[in-house]
Amino acid sequence: MSATPKAPGRKKQPARQVKTATRPASEPAARQWAGLRENLLDWYVVAQRDLPWRHTTDPYAIWVSEIMLQQTRVAAVIDRYQQFIARFPTVVHLAQATEQEVLALWSGLGYYRRARMLHQAAQVVAGEMQGSMPKNSAELRKLPGIGAYTAAAIASIAYGEPVAVVDGNVERVVSRLGGWDFGAEGGDTKLRRRIETVAGQMLAPSRPGDFNQAMMELGATVCTPRGPQCLVCPVVQDCLTKGEHRTVSRAPMSSQDAAYALAVRDGTMGDSEVLLEQRAQSQTVMPGLWELPPLREAAVPDQDLRMTVRHAIMQVNYTVRIRTVPEPDVDAVTVAGGDRRWVPLTEASGMALTGLTRKVLTRAHLLSGGPGKRKSSQLGDTAH
Ligand code: SF4
Repeated sequence: MSATPKAPGRKKQPARQVKTATRPASEPAARQWAGLRENLLDWYVVAQRDLPWRHTTDPYAIWVSEIMLQQTRVAAVIDRYQQFIARFPTVVHLAQATEQEVLALWSGLGYYRRARMLHQAAQVVAGEMQGSMPKNSAELRKLPGIGAYTAAAIASIAYGEPVAVVDGNVERVVSRLGGWDFGAEGGDTKLRRRIETVAGQMLAPSRPGDFNQAMMELGATVCTPRGPQCLVCPVVQDCLTKGEHRTVSRAPMSSQDAAYALAVRDGTMGDSEVLLEQRAQSQTVMPGLWELPPLREAAVPDQDLRMTVRHAIMQVNYTVRIRTVPEPDVDAVTVAGGDRRWVPLTEASGMALTGLTRKVLTRAHLLSGGPGKRKSSQLGDTAH
């Protein structure tokens, strides 16, 4: 997303001498941040990863990338972002698509509500704004699904608006710079307000987009949650922590079993067909997406076990057993209900499949193209 300046070669640099920074004072808000800005921006020019959304200042493309990147790994987003932009190159193209088309291209990224909100907001822009994106963060926030973080990212990168982005990475970097301990600061809300204030003071007003991306990049690649690389950190001289601090512990993951039927038959047109079921629109998780029919019993006889798959959804690690089920036995072993359809395998890859279903069909070598062209290592182990 950064337009200026571009990194020659974009290779990570070894440990380097940073420019002399203002000596930290006891109260971070009183510090001068000129040295930090300069060191951080210099580092970003040479150390930033070459990511496809960093080659544009189109607010729509930046918006798509920011929504995809929420709670999803960069490596899983790259291909999907490129496919999405190729299929929907403008906000009007996205607005004109059906929800199933949008969900199909989102399949495997998880958190499908993001895709629905993006689609709804695109329809607002196309219908009420003549296809022209709002031109500042305050107007962007009026669109469905765009909060303070996303609005700040789009406005600073696309329009150069001097507004600070505060995501999880920035939160961690700023709190370490300030020497603040999450556990000792009286709770998240108080600390978050303090972080937002300081992040705004740090922001480079002449290059807000680059600065915001540099802060996020630093948090993603150097000032990581575990084992921050302080020896190569460009802002080490401004940092009062220089290492890990205590963080709020995450809720522990739980484990559950699940089981699905893999039923495949010869189709009438010479193509094999797989039985899929559409999740009800009333479901709170993944409504409208297509999946394999769930089995009545989680236990699967050894002779019918096609594969066992591990899949994480939110805070649950699932052990999923996939049972090969001949067509005549489907009703006897699966949970009744749902809109079921025998789908030609050549069509399945272009449908809005759940991440788990896409993973299973790919591992069974039943998917051939469309959104499922991704490598299996990139499929669906994100929460949904
Ligand atoms: S010096 Fe270490 S803890 Fe401080 S900002 Fe840099 S990487 Fe993070």
